[in-house]
Amino acid sequence: MGVCIDQGNLEDAYNRCIEFINTKGCKMIITPNTEIIMRAQKDSKLFQIINKADLVIPDGIGLIYASKIQGKGLKERVTGVDLMYKILEYCNENKKSIYILGGKPEVAEKACKNIKNKLPGVEIKGCHDGYFKEEEEINIIENINRLNPDILFVALGVPKQEIFMDKYKEMLSARIVMGVGGSVDVWAG
Ligand code: UDP
Repeated sequence: MGVCIDQGNLEDAYNRCIEFINTKGCKMIITPNTEIIMRAQKDSKLFQIINKADLVIPDGIGLIYASKIQGKGLKERVTGVDLMYKILEYCNENKKSIYILGGKPEVAEKACKNIKNKLPGVEIKGCHDGYFKEEEEINIIENINRLNPDILFVALGVPKQEIFMDKYKEMLSARIVMGVGGSVDVWAG
């Protein structure tokens, strides 16, 4: 259906992330499921953003079945929540830092608290809820850049988070900007 998804398993995706963290420039990670790929057929902006992302993981078993039927190369599902966990483990072991943008007020704070409890080596530079006006965006980005996290997790729902990441990717000092959707809610408990 014209959407490029990276082949490989969770370990492969994780290795790409380590490469991103240790390379200059901000890399964008998108975690589509079947619903998002279907949505991208009608939403040309979302379609283009997915196809220019640096890493696109198949976060839905439907994508694996479709790939098998079509004889394409996807082998197994790689979820955003699992990849986020592995990135956080890397941050924990290597003193890397994160910022969480998104979720309802207090959800990102709770997620940060739970991450810090479980993985105390992760440096949490800050967080902000995902309910802000467009005119506030630039201040939020400037503040994130001042704090200079290695990773920016964005949870604004699809396609808002993809549009947001695409809009600000070039301005960001972070090495990775990753759309994580409901994963922040999972971390918040
Ligand atoms: N969200 C947000 N701002 C918005 C819309 C959604 O911060 O304007 C948050 C929402 O609170 C949730 C996350 O984005 O924490 C994922 O939202 P949703 O479950 O709707 O998206 P999905 O993960 O299904 O794409």
